[in-house]
Amino acid sequence: MNELTTISSCDATACAFNHNGCTAPAITMSRDGNRAACGTFISLDADGGLPTADAHVGACQMTECVHNKNLMCTAATISVRGNSAECSNFEVSAEIAA
Ligand code: SF4
Repeated sequence: MNELTTISSCDATACAFNHNGCTAPAITMSRDGNRAACGTFISLDADGGLPTADAHVGACQMTECVHNKNLMCTAATISVRGNSAECSNFEVSAEIAA
């Protein structure tokens, strides 16, 4: 893996890092029950992140996901959906689901 996974879009407008997209340099995708949700999400009256939306997935805790390798994401890009900041690309590996 040479490049970190990019974040194409994020719907979670309540997040302090969301300025027409995610401006955190890197996020951690965390576990929330059996779904993957952005662990970097923070609802705060402050401007977070860099001036441009060029976010990446720095780490991912969802070891059962087909894209997860060594606790990192191998997908080229992901999108984050809804106000709950859920990973749209999370997919349980067939080996684990069986
Ligand atoms: S990906 Fe996470 S940190 Fe970035 S704007 Fe969305 S909820 Fe916030």
